[in-house]
Amino acid sequence: MSTRSRVAAIYEQVRMRNAGEPEFHQAASEVFESLQVVLERHPHYADAGLIERLCEPERQIIFRVPWTDDSGVVHVNRGFRVQYNSALGPYKGGLRFHPTVNLGIVKFLGFEQIFKNALTGLPIGGGKGGSDFDPKGRSDAEVMRFCQSFMTELHRHVGEYTDVPAGDIGVGGREIGFLFGQYKRLTNSYESGVLTGKGTAWGGSQVRREATGYGVAYFVAEMLEVLGTSLPGRTVVVSGSGNVAIYAIEKVHQLGGTVTACSDSSGYVVDPAGIDVAVLKEIKEVRRARISDYADAVRGASFVAAGSIWDVTCEVAIPSATQNELDSDAAAVLVANGVQVVAEGASMPTTPSAVKVLRDAGVAFAPGKAANAGGVATSALEMQQNASRDSWSFDYTDERLAAIMRGIHRRTVTTAEEYGRPGDYVHGANIAGFIKVADAMAALGVI
Ligand code: NDP
Repeated sequence: MSTRSRVAAIYEQVRMRNAGEPEFHQAASEVFESLQVVLERHPHYADAGLIERLCEPERQIIFRVPWTDDSGVVHVNRGFRVQYNSALGPYKGGLRFHPTVNLGIVKFLGFEQIFKNALTGLPIGGGKGGSDFDPKGRSDAEVMRFCQSFMTELHRHVGEYTDVPAGDIGVGGREIGFLFGQYKRLTNSYESGVLTGKGTAWGGSQVRREATGYGVAYFVAEMLEVLGTSLPGRTVVVSGSGNVAIYAIEKVHQLGGTVTACSDSSGYVVDPAGIDVAVLKEIKEVRRARISDYADAVRGASFVAAGSIWDVTCEVAIPSATQNELDSDAAAVLVANGVQVVAEGASMPTTPSAVKVLRDAGVAFAPGKAANAGGVATSALEMQQNASRDSWSFDYTDERLAAIMRGIHRRTVTTAEEYGRPGDYVHGANIAGFIKVADAMAALGVI
């Protein structure tokens, strides 16, 4: 059988076995596209069912999460933890609380996480979890009761050497606090290393909150350097206004670029003078309010409820909200407006057809598994600090993050060149991540 048919047959088997999970198919198919060239050069990677094993999570946990709202009504949500691959270290990956969460979404995120974590060069495996709980509009007390119920089951399955969750959409410092409190109470042990994204007063790392967004900005700076230019003077659009988006905007501004638009699920704001990060943080982190408030607070800014944020002209686009938010029509508009770089802050925000439009137009495109790996990398630094009962300064941790992002960029670019696709960040990231995990899996035997 030719390599092409072999890869196609394995992908077909994965698709059939995981029916009804389109996001997982999309994430798997993107990696499979890069695998053919690897198997042509190194056929042994297809031996011993290695690819089939990589696609099948080591363990999938689904559980009931009952909780009571402020008026005494009982609600039932579904909790998930997919422990995907532990060849390189304990399972590591965030928890997402959003009404759209289902097993397929958690699997796509967990699958991506394996390669992302491998790319960081740090000793962490891949996993992901979450719930279809919607924290929006819920009181702090309701969020706390939900988190306590969620952890009452999850605590049996996690641990500093087993599985170390962190945040994702809908899970920030507040939720990690409630989850850690319940874990500590149930186990009667202050096991700091069981969760990352903790507050700096109780075991968290400096820069973890900022890390994903800062990391994307560092990655973009590297991409621009390859193109012979730099961030100062560049116009940037960042979608979303959550954890990733806020700190991507902050670091882009520190590095000399100007972010003129950001969004949430109700619409987007444009501020030609550059988004005022202090105002944005007050609206989103303190008041948990809608993005339209920004236009009320800042003179010269405007709010657009209908339409696409990608209509706003920019040289650099950083989609940082959610999966499949940037489609081929949006990509065509970006290209027509002269975009040079697109770097994914979110997990898989660019559809496959949009990636093709960007690639055909010669736009430098970085997938999330490379560009947004700064969050998980800094989580691994938090684990290091917890293990040694140490805590590092903000500047030192930020320097470590910047060095890790430069390393990921270098590894991605070098691997793409080595495998005959110079400038192709998607292939570079997939292949470099795959080889790291596959070598470890092969060494550990058929398990
Ligand atoms: P947050 O919950 O902090 O923010 C999410 C942002 O995206 C909000 O502005 C939200 O708007 C918007 N959003 C979410 N869902 C949708 C939707 N269906 N349609 C339109 N807008 C939406 O999450 P994060 O910033 O932590 O995560 C954002 C992305 O980054 C995710 O894809 C996540 O997987 C990825 N990521 C996060 C990491 C981290 O460290 N936090 C690490 C690596 C990747 P609204 O409030 O209106 O819902």
